[in-house]
Amino acid sequence: MSARTVKLAVIPGDGIGPEVVAEGLKVLSVVAPRHGLTLDTTEYELGAKRWHATGETLPDSVEEELRRHEAIFLGAVGDPTVPSGVLERGLLLRLRFNFSHYVNLRPVRLYPGVTTPLAGVAPEDVDMLVVREGTEGPYAGMGGVLRRGTPGEIATQDSVNTRFGVERVVRYAFAKAAERPRRKLTLVHKDNVLTYAGELWQRVVREVGAEYPQVEVDYLHVDAATMFFVTQPRRFDVVVTDNLFGDIITDLGAAVAGGIGLAASGNINPEADFPSMFEPVHGSAPDIAGQSKADPTATVLSAALMLDHLGYGDAAAQVERAVAEDLQARAKDGGTRSTVQIGDDIAQRVAEQG
Ligand code: ATP
Ligand code: MG
Repeated sequence: MSARTVKLAVIPGDGIGPEVVAEGLKVLSVVAPRHGLTLDTTEYELGAKRWHATGETLPDSVEEELRRHEAIFLGAVGDPTVPSGVLERGLLLRLRFNFSHYVNLRPVRLYPGVTTPLAGVAPEDVDMLVVREGTEGPYAGMGGVLRRGTPGEIATQDSVNTRFGVERVVRYAFAKAAERPRRKLTLVHKDNVLTYAGELWQRVVREVGAEYPQVEVDYLHVDAATMFFVTQPRRFDVVVTDNLFGDIITDLGAAVAGGIGLAASGNINPEADFPSMFEPVHGSAPDIAGQSKADPTATVLSAALMLDHLGYGDAAAQVERAVAEDLQARAKDGGTRSTVQIGDDIAQRVAEQG
């Protein structure tokens, strides 16, 4: 990849967010110049602090500024003092919808040396890529409440599935599956009960799959999929699923692959019409904030996803290698390092790779 400058917006956020983002940026600052990449970063203060001070979650002017970046690097936002849903709807979901992050990408990979709660599972058994739809399903915010506060109250929360929205994420998933050695794609849904949406997803997978004869296609109901994530993780290569099922199975995936401290994600707009956003799966973890106890690895791996998305696959691979080495070393030393020490060690390993 040729030398270029990428405008990167950084949202450290709340709790452990700033701590882990600092380590992600540290690793980026070592790897990027080695690949001709200059990161021009601007920090934005969004999250609980800003909401308390001003009542704002995402002012229009800030959204406009973010839009003019190529990528967003986010720590975590949220705090027990902010009512549930305020930052989720007002900031995170708003960015997802307005920047058309229709792919939520979550690799689930068990690194050698990492402890999994599954007995008898080897690292090579757990290597999947979950492609979760990011802008539709029950998250679309459709529905309503009738007769609120009465015994006859009714709340509906509609799942929105458009042909356009399903097809674009399914296409992305097939393209990813075709690039991977196992070339397998599993659709996860619940088409025996959610018949209208399920049939649309099935039909789209069948139709797009006809363009990818080299990709093996499988289907699982979501309940069966959760079972097989635990009993036979090897069944899975690329998984494509809707917004809510994806949310649930990727937390399970994170647990299987050694915990929330390692799980990375990207909210991706593949066409790059808008900046994509990269963040650890975990939240702001207020219980351990400010104690340098947070594991920055998930954030570092999210930075690797970002490098890959920006076209710096070699840089991403370098970061992943450094993380893999660090995790193996951790298995031996027992794992008592601080957030900063882990960041330093990963950065050091990147530097040693040349
Ligand atoms: P959110 O609503 O933002 O998803 P949450 O309530 O689900 O937040 P998290 O912030 O994701 O909670 O964290 C759950 C727990 O996992 C934390 O309380 C913390 O103890 C632990 N945890 C989360 N992230 C990390 C990390 N990077 N390193 C170590 N422990 C972590
Ligand atoms: Mg959570």
